[in-house]
Amino acid sequence: MPNAGMHVFTGKTSGRVAVARLTQGSDLLDEINSLAERAGFAAATVQFIGALRKAVVLVLDQDTKEYLNIDVPGPLEIVSGSGNISLRDGKPFAHVHVVVSGLDGKCIGGHVANGCEVYLTELVLTELAMDKPLERTLDKEVGVAVWQ
Ligand code: ZN
Repeated sequence: MPNAGMHVFTGKTSGRVAVARLTQGSDLLDEINSLAERAGFAAATVQFIGALRKAVVLVLDQDTKEYLNIDVPGPLEIVSGSGNISLRDGKPFAHVHVVVSGLDGKCIGGHVANGCEVYLTELVLTELAMDKPLERTLDKEVGVAVWQ
């Protein structure tokens, strides 16, 4: 018996991918949104690795529903980057998390914010062909825009 509270959306992979090497000095989050828009992907999975000059990640305080900013000075390796693309206000919207390591190899991570400056990043989007559009709207109880 599936969990009745779970919000389930079905579809399939379309077979299309979009792959990019990002420009040095560009903003990671802006570049992910830009590639999704250029490829015309309304829904996709996101994967990336590489290196950043610096990072800004967010962590949601679940009590106050406010994001806390963490500035991470570089140089940094992107140990793992993943997320998804869905629609918000009718446009492709990237929700992405990252784990980065510094020169000592120690890791920190969170929700990717603007301010992550690319040194070298390889980005792969895999398009999802959803049965119905996958759209995100604000859920005040959760404190963020979620799939409805
Ligand atoms: Zn997040």
